[in-house]
Amino acid sequence: MDVTVIHNVSLKPYNSFRLESEASIMAFPHNEAGLCELMDRYRGFKHIVVLGKGSNVILSKDYYSDEYLFVNLKLMDHIEMVNSRRIFAQGGASLSNLVWYAIENNIKGLEFLEDIPGTIGGAIIMNAGTYRSTIGNFVKSIRYYDLEKGELINRDVRDSDFSKRHSFWSENSSIILSAVVEAEQGDYVESLKIVMQDKEKRFAKQPRNFPNAGSVFVRPEVDLKDQVVWELLDEVGLRGYSKNGCAFSAKHPGFIINTGGATYKDIMELVAVAKERVLNRFGVELEMEWKVI
Ligand SMILES: Cc1cc2nc3c(=O)[nH]c(=O)nc-3n(C[C@H](O)[C@H](O)[C@H](O)COP(=O)(O)OP(=O)(O)OC[C@H]3O[C@@H](n4cnc5c(N)ncnc54)[C@H](O)[C@@H]3O)c2cc1C
Repeated sequence: MDVTVIHNVSLKPYNSFRLESEASIMAFPHNEAGLCELMDRYRGFKHIVVLGKGSNVILSKDYYSDEYLFVNLKLMDHIEMVNSRRIFAQGGASLSNLVWYAIENNIKGLEFLEDIPGTIGGAIIMNAGTYRSTIGNFVKSIRYYDLEKGELINRDVRDSDFSKRHSFWSENSSIILSAVVEAEQGDYVESLKIVMQDKEKRFAKQPRNFPNAGSVFVRPEVDLKDQVVWELLDEVGLRGYSKNGCAFSAKHPGFIINTGGATYKDIMELVAVAKERVLNRFGVELEMEWKVI
């Protein structure tokens, strides 16, 4: 058997907001064969949920019954060089490991991904990135399991596949198994400096000492210009605003933090307050970046 299936699993370690939740079934494929074996076994299953690092998800249930199959690719995290500019990475590999691997092989350009606490799979679904770039600009091809067709597919990436915090695969029920990324040849020391500067800046801004799931909202566009969400939230008085177990961070109001015992309901109450205040004050409709499961 190339897949490990376990039952009644706490999902707390599998979501960065550290919400208390439990899954009746969770599977860890060891390789592609294991994933296919699992999919054959659960063919036609209604809710198949892949969790990467769970750093952009909010779990809405205390218990996911046996109608849900959770899949985690942490055993599929292999990374290797394809040639001097291309790297192959499995869907469960962390962005951080990918970037360090790139740097140590004198490849530059991916540094902006190092401090984003997700996996390759999650980053491709979310088109993760920073003000500098997004992963979609570097991905050349993707291998995925198409849940509707029940087959493995290789796809060369097209220009239209990635957009703001979204990709072709976000809409199509698919499991990202691996990707090939391409970047420029670079210099270890130069890349190291960029990573360290980014980490320092981000640590200074973000509430890393409380569980959270990154930015709550996608940057809205007004008159073709991206708005900075935390500034809007600050303007409507939400910096440090708290209710029950969670709060808009006093350090960075674009993040909701778990101050202790937060529940899905608590979080959604804060989201609703933000949406209402920002709409009333600025006429801007905020869209949640998180995926609610
Ligand atoms: C402190 C902090 C800082 C962050 N900073 C940034 C940032 O600067 N920029 C940014 O873009 N994001 C940021 N994020 C959000 C998050 O880290 C990214 O969106 C990341 O790419 C999510 O990856 P993940 O593996 O955690 O995905 P998850 O959160 O586990 O999943 C996200 C979505 O992808 C799906 N998914 C995950 N893996 C797969 C797979 N293999 N196949 C198919 N579907 C899959 C899930 O079902 C879900 O719909 C931050 C989060 C935190 C907590």
